[in-house]
Amino acid sequence: MKAKNSIIPVFVPHLGCPNDCVFCNQRRISGHMLPAGAETVRNAIENAAALTPPGTKRQLAFYGGSFTAIPDGQQLELFEAARPYLEDGTISSIRLSTRPDAIDGAVLARLKKYGVTTVELGAQSMCDKVLELSGRGHTASDVENASRLIKAAGFELILQMMTGLPGDTDEGSIETARRIIALRPDGVRIYPTVIVRDTALYDLWKAGNYAEHTVDDAVRVCAKLTAMFDEAHIPIIRMGLNPTEDLSGGDAAGGAYHPALGELVRSRMMLDKARQLLEGTPHGSSVILGVNSSDVSKMTGQHRCNINTLKTELRLRSVKIREADVKSGEIAILSLD
Ligand code: SF4
Repeated sequence: MKAKNSIIPVFVPHLGCPNDCVFCNQRRISGHMLPAGAETVRNAIENAAALTPPGTKRQLAFYGGSFTAIPDGQQLELFEAARPYLEDGTISSIRLSTRPDAIDGAVLARLKKYGVTTVELGAQSMCDKVLELSGRGHTASDVENASRLIKAAGFELILQMMTGLPGDTDEGSIETARRIIALRPDGVRIYPTVIVRDTALYDLWKAGNYAEHTVDDAVRVCAKLTAMFDEAHIPIIRMGLNPTEDLSGGDAAGGAYHPALGELVRSRMMLDKARQLLEGTPHGSSVILGVNSSDVSKMTGQHRCNINTLKTELRLRSVKIREADVKSGEIAILSLD
């Protein structure tokens, strides 16, 4: 039987990050206010080992912050805390996230020495103007250079991108996705911009200098990006910020915060596909669409919104959804009269 995989997250919030990206308040986003130290690492690993069956492949994940930009002493403290567990097989590898301009040959050599196998880079945009307006402090070519170094050194590469940043457009996000695909990452995360309290973006928004990227905006553009990554066979390992009590409790003051954003995007893709399929259908028709059993709720949409949109836009008498023997993501017309 195949060993189960489990991720042991340790958040390294804003620890030593030299930047101040307009959208970032890492402590609020990760929901963890205290910086992580050796004790945090040991507790996280031991708790996970107690809760998962022997034989589980456990990966320690340093998320949040910019791991390779924190002071060397703190990186070593966290790595050294993990080392005995790597040596005795309690964990099998480490992944971490960092900034594109905090990667070079020496950094990668150290990551390799301490058992890191996956590096996640916050690219956020491949448009230099958007990066500048967002206070990222790096350029698109930094993302390209770091990605090449990471891949050449044999690490798994995950790239993170955002939509709806200051100065960005749907076309800009599509161009970002195109350039990310060209770098052939092993996976991507897409984070539509959320306006978090106590950030520069919140102030810009309140002053009327930033137009909110709504859930609807995010769903529209992410449906296009998802189609591009699907076609390139690059897995999307996360869409939208992980919900936390703080964000849901009011720290997410605006923007594209939705606990099931990925589901909304897949649902929008089904709607777009059905629109194309039914184009030109005579007004007043009754239609029965067949989808894979895993797609019935996506095709129906939240509160039947896809069915209502199809009926209204195409002036149909009725639209019904049925399970059918078709591949996931496909739609068949089972009846039309
Ligand atoms: S680089 Fe990362 S941790 Fe630092 S401010 Fe920007 S988003 Fe936050």
